[in-house]
Amino acid sequence: MGSEIEVAINAAKNEAVTALIRSLNDAQCQAVTTPSQSVLVLAGAGSGKTRVLVHRIAWQIQVMDISMQSILAVTFTNKAAKEMRGRIEDLLNVSARSMWIGTFHGLAHRLLRSHAKQAKLPETFQVMDSADQLRLIKRLLGSLNLDEDKWPPKQIQWYINAQKDEGIRARHCVAGYDLYQQNLLKVYQSYEDLCERSGLVDFGELLLRAHELLRDNPDVLAFYQQRFRQVLVDEFQDINTVQYAWLRLLTQGQDNIFVVGDDDQSIYGWRGAKVENIYNFQKHYPDHQVIKLEQNYRSTGFILKAANAVVANNDGRMGKALWTDSANGDPIALYAAFNEQDEAYFVVERIKAWINEGGKCNDVAILYRSNAQSRQFEERLMTTAIPYRVYGGLRFFERAEIKNALAYLRMMANRHDDASFERIINTPTRGIGMKTVDDIRAIARDQGISLWSAMLLLLDQGRLTARAGNALAGFAQLIKNLDQLVQGIELYEKVQLVVEKTGLLDFHGKEKADKGDEKVENLQELVNAARLFDFNSNLEGMENLGELDMFLAYASLEAGDMQADDFEDCVQLMTLHSAKGLEFKLVFLVGLEEGVFPSQQSVDDIGRLEEERRLCYVGITRAMQHLSISYAESRRLYGRESYPRPSRFLREIPAECIQEVRLRAEVSRPVSSVKVNTAPLQAQGQYRLGQRVSHVKFGEGVILQTEGAGEQERVQINFKQVGIKWLMLAYAKLDVL
Ligand code: ATP
Ligand code: MG
Repeated sequence: MGSEIEVAINAAKNEAVTALIRSLNDAQCQAVTTPSQSVLVLAGAGSGKTRVLVHRIAWQIQVMDISMQSILAVTFTNKAAKEMRGRIEDLLNVSARSMWIGTFHGLAHRLLRSHAKQAKLPETFQVMDSADQLRLIKRLLGSLNLDEDKWPPKQIQWYINAQKDEGIRARHCVAGYDLYQQNLLKVYQSYEDLCERSGLVDFGELLLRAHELLRDNPDVLAFYQQRFRQVLVDEFQDINTVQYAWLRLLTQGQDNIFVVGDDDQSIYGWRGAKVENIYNFQKHYPDHQVIKLEQNYRSTGFILKAANAVVANNDGRMGKALWTDSANGDPIALYAAFNEQDEAYFVVERIKAWINEGGKCNDVAILYRSNAQSRQFEERLMTTAIPYRVYGGLRFFERAEIKNALAYLRMMANRHDDASFERIINTPTRGIGMKTVDDIRAIARDQGISLWSAMLLLLDQGRLTARAGNALAGFAQLIKNLDQLVQGIELYEKVQLVVEKTGLLDFHGKEKADKGDEKVENLQELVNAARLFDFNSNLEGMENLGELDMFLAYASLEAGDMQADDFEDCVQLMTLHSAKGLEFKLVFLVGLEEGVFPSQQSVDDIGRLEEERRLCYVGITRAMQHLSISYAESRRLYGRESYPRPSRFLREIPAECIQEVRLRAEVSRPVSSVKVNTAPLQAQGQYRLGQRVSHVKFGEGVILQTEGAGEQERVQINFKQVGIKWLMLAYAKLDVL
């Protein structure tokens, strides 16, 4: 062929577009330039789907004369959105501010802010992240007299979110005679009422509300249908029912939708994503064109071969070929670790070698199945002084001290924000007891009012003890005073003022020595974040919103899970789920053990097992040049010791792609002399990893790690009786067995 490119280049208006086209292969070029309105690009990992999507936007703006404002692009993370905007600005050399690029949540939020009234939301509505949501649910269970043991809040949260993802409100549900279902429904209904009363919107609600907004307001719908001449969606295989319905509404009648995806990378089924939407798409947009990209540009031959072989074990695939021009490259390194610490040790040794050879930290990722696995690697990286960043887990805006400060700001913006009220009523401690809070809750529940209003009522009634009454009145006064004090000053000054006057700075500063410092620093960083907050680039289109509200909305959306911070030059640690769409030169896939990956919950369920396998495919295909896979023969996770079998996925990788790495080749297991010699901080003394020792008090154990030297030398020992302990060698009298 080649003709696609010729034609495209003839149509290209300038050098920049010509260059843009020349950087594509034929199938990619077709996807970028096709005149078809509805397009499905179905292709494997690393084949350039995201790249095609970005180039198509550039093409449409430059050659098809579609204006920036007429483009709506949906990405999976805020980070991806930021990158995409940047790439388009680079390609076109203009500002892309007026373009709607964002996550489903971000875009839905933007719509709801612009049309709060039509969406039946108060102008001051606040977004809660999942931790806030959980807190609210806990409180609700209390007020409904449901026992948390029988009604685990996390499960309730799961249930509510699952309903919302399907577009189902409590009033749509029928509980029937099942008592459990009846109660669940009751909780869901009360939760909806409570959110409504408090002006709170959770993540699922953002999507559902945005859908209802378009569905129930023909004028709003018509406006956006006319406005957006092209709707583009990345990672289409992972969108849920409500997201799809929303896209359908927006593109109805015009069928102007361009989606890219890979059924083999659908990994959010457990959260309501529906890979079937790929089939639905083909049904609902009958004139669509399907374009397949088959060349992988990301990975070396062995890596790609391994990925293809693993995913081939799944049934019901849409079937795609994926090949590469690249050489086989290094085989995949496979390491059987003695335990999880040894695994971390191995990984960090390899990273050290990479850095010594001139590699950058940024190009390295450690990918694991669950967040709890990160700690081992963090500790090891810390000892070795290699900079790293953990994605997911607790991010800045999710930290307790930050959420406390934000909760004050939220209360100032909206007194009826019950979630914030709960958070700060006695933080910092001001002598308001559980009893008083319970009284407030009871009044709120009985009268169907917010906690704030209930508190004022309780104060009016005057039946509190003097002490409780004073404490409560003090709190009410504090919020009112703050509100007055912050009038007319800059946003960051407001934040500064709140952090100081509420006593949060002192309160957190006094927490356990080092942690307190960190918290104070974080609070100061929040002031800084407010200072640097760019109202123009964030949440644009919400000019009607006050600065503070904008900042708060930004904080909530940033706290969303699956989001990653900006890159610095540091090693990236993240779950496999959050690695989607990313690529790294050197990747460590760790914890390849039955019960870890695939996860315990999935091993008995073929559907979930296949999703785990797709996750494995995603993991392998993140690697560009080097991939290293490891598993531990014994692992302590969630406080339990286990001896897992190696993951079945390992057996699915062709042998020729793998090279086993043995650090302890010449020594009989489990002693590991090689490691002892190579580690700079490792003890050079008489103790070695894996050695069996005995202690007068703790009995027999095995040495897991050693650290420091001379007086400071410490060993970590796993004792049969008492578990893992760190001991100072200078004091611990150990006998070698
Ligand atoms: P994933 O499924 O993991 O999201 P993807 O299909 O979106 O992958 P991209 O991230 O767009 O793939 O591209 C993978 C890598 O290949 C990127 O580094 C990209 O720049 C590169 N690439 C894609 N197409 C080409 C091409 N025609 N020439 C050179 N490099 C390319
Ligand atoms: Mg992609």
